[in-house]
Amino acid sequence: MFGLTDRELDRATNTLGLASYRKDQIRQWIYEKHVGDFSLMTNLPAQLRQQLAQQFAVTESRVAEVQKTAGAAKLLVEFAKDLVVETVVISYRSWSTVCVSSQFGCDMGCVFCASGVGSPAVNLSSQQLAEQLWHARIFANQQGLNPVRNIVVMGVGEPLANFDNLLGFISAANDPSRFAIGQRRITVSTVGLVPQIKKLADTGLAVYLAVSLHAANDELRRRLMPVAGRHSLQDLLSACRKYTEATGRRVTYEYVLLRGVNDTDTHGVELANLLKGHNCLVNLIPFNAVPGLSFAPSLRTEEFRRVLEQRGINVTTRRSLGGDVSAACGQLRNRRK
Ligand code: SAH
Repeated sequence: MFGLTDRELDRATNTLGLASYRKDQIRQWIYEKHVGDFSLMTNLPAQLRQQLAQQFAVTESRVAEVQKTAGAAKLLVEFAKDLVVETVVISYRSWSTVCVSSQFGCDMGCVFCASGVGSPAVNLSSQQLAEQLWHARIFANQQGLNPVRNIVVMGVGEPLANFDNLLGFISAANDPSRFAIGQRRITVSTVGLVPQIKKLADTGLAVYLAVSLHAANDELRRRLMPVAGRHSLQDLLSACRKYTEATGRRVTYEYVLLRGVNDTDTHGVELANLLKGHNCLVNLIPFNAVPGLSFAPSLRTEEFRRVLEQRGINVTTRRSLGGDVSAACGQLRNRRK
């Protein structure tokens, strides 16, 4: 297998005894011209193209299906018959963002999310994460969409539970000779694993961190997110503060508004009090329906937002796209065919 990592590129070119400029040519085809088919790499000798095609493949995956909707598309990236991962491309006015899945399945068990339904979590490798980005880039290119410049690791899975592979992916994404996407264009969304947030702060990386909060008291949070039984809000917020101190990045707190569950004015006041004095942003997420789950979207998004704003909290509301192809937040699930 011909991987997407530089090491693997080296291995392949060494195996074939190629000069280093050949490696650069191949790299350019793959990363700059978005070509994954050796036979189309026209500045390589025909015989070499053939040899490469026989011995290597650019990716271990293919896009098995695309589901398009206004402003977003869901790619089903197939690594094996029984390993199909969902990746979403979202287009904005002047760029596109890819939403990458970090695991196959999820063990976090948040009660309002589809991703945990079904299979237990399997970590995706750095390369499997990078391949999702690569396919997204090609897709945007082929569809005439704005180029993929931003990455959110917010698809299926808990990225901080797949820590080393996440770091490998971030380094591939950052690498100027590969994807060349800067750290300020990468956001990692976590359910709130406290030790791993501290560990991430210690790596010296400075990606943006989004933390799924969804409740401003431990009792309600435990009802919604089993992880809250392991880490109190106090510990979580202090890890986030540390993250901001170490990286200079403001943390985003995600808050999915569930009708009658966490969306009253009282909840809003509680949230504002909890976050008072924190350099942060609250991102309100409209709840997206998940078949079989009884939660409903809040009818009070604007009112809730006002409660926070009146108390000096920075708030944005997430634009929800892709609901009609089940590509929106919380609707992704990995599938075995
Ligand atoms: N495990 C990570 C990333 C995946 S989920 C995390 O928990 O942050 C990405 C975001 O979508 C999270 O904030 C998650 O809580 C939210 N989400 C989950 N289910 C949702 C739903 N049905 N509607 C809207 N957002 C949802």
